[in-house]
Amino acid sequence: MSAAIIDGKAFAQNLRERIKKAVADLAGRGVVPGLAVVLVGDDPASQVYVRSKAKQTIEAGMRSFEHRLPATTSQHELESLVARLNADEAVDGILVQLPLPAGLDAAPVIAKIDPAKDVDGLTDISAGRLASGRRGLVPCTPLGAMLLVKSVLPDVAGAEAVIVGRSNLVGKPVAQLLLQENATVTIAHSRTRDLAAVCRRADILVAAVGRPEMLGADHVKEGAVVIDVGINRVPAPDLGPDKTRLVGDVAFEAAAAKARAITPVPGGVGPMTIACLLRNTLTAACARHGLDLPAL
Ligand code: NDP
Repeated sequence: MSAAIIDGKAFAQNLRERIKKAVADLAGRGVVPGLAVVLVGDDPASQVYVRSKAKQTIEAGMRSFEHRLPATTSQHELESLVARLNADEAVDGILVQLPLPAGLDAAPVIAKIDPAKDVDGLTDISAGRLASGRRGLVPCTPLGAMLLVKSVLPDVAGAEAVIVGRSNLVGKPVAQLLLQENATVTIAHSRTRDLAAVCRRADILVAAVGRPEMLGADHVKEGAVVIDVGINRVPAPDLGPDKTRLVGDVAFEAAAAKARAITPVPGGVGPMTIACLLRNTLTAACARHGLDLPAL
């Protein structure tokens, strides 16, 4: 079998267009969703993410509030900012860009975010709601991964799903989303025995490990849907000295030879993250104003 490539970039673009229309409709009713992004310090990768989040927020017709704080910001100052954003009526979503600089503790900052504005889905309340199947805001990358699964497999009920990785950020929420849709879910991790055999059971295989091209042909069942969440930068001597390239946690060519559909890296799950952040901001704005979420 030669796999269909799941084009996350196109899917994300299409989702952003649909969000933009819904936002315009909402604006007509007097509600303009607002997203506040807090960046502490000058980590170059975080700066790039924050810039593109702000750009896409504005392109979607939403308000973007950027708060750039120096690396010397104290824990108290950061938590006070979150408290102010909680109280700010114009702000529907709050995202604190992680990682924070050394010396700042992320957990109490995240805990301060009003769950109604937790568009990153990282508070314990959001995680608890997801785990107990109640309505709430879902972490963006897992939500993006799930939307891509459903783009090729609209009904996952009864399917065997194996998620490799059990982080709170990716693995566990992806597992919860698949479980909610009635898949039979296995979560594998670094202590899993005979990982390849476990993975080969999967109709849906989700890799969220952080190890370049760790899952190969041996891990993929013929006809499986493979979702590669991994983003790893590896040396690429073929491109020149000191050059690098991005690869996923799945050895793409080997897996694609067996899979029915597969996400590439880059261009798969990655582009879905910001699109889902916008979707969550829209969801939060509708919920805060007592409006139904428009069909997207
Ligand atoms: P973590 O490092 O938090 O978790 C990795 C998980 O993989 C752990 O549960 C770990 O198991 C498991 N693992 C590690 N080694 C093995 C192994 N040899 N066999 C089986 N399982 C193993 O990573 P994240 O969940 O935060 O991220 C995973 C990947 O997703 C990364 O490549 C990251 O860059 C990418 N990512 C992409 C995003 C995007 O597309 N926008 C956003 C977030 C992440 P154990 O718990 O036992 O240690």
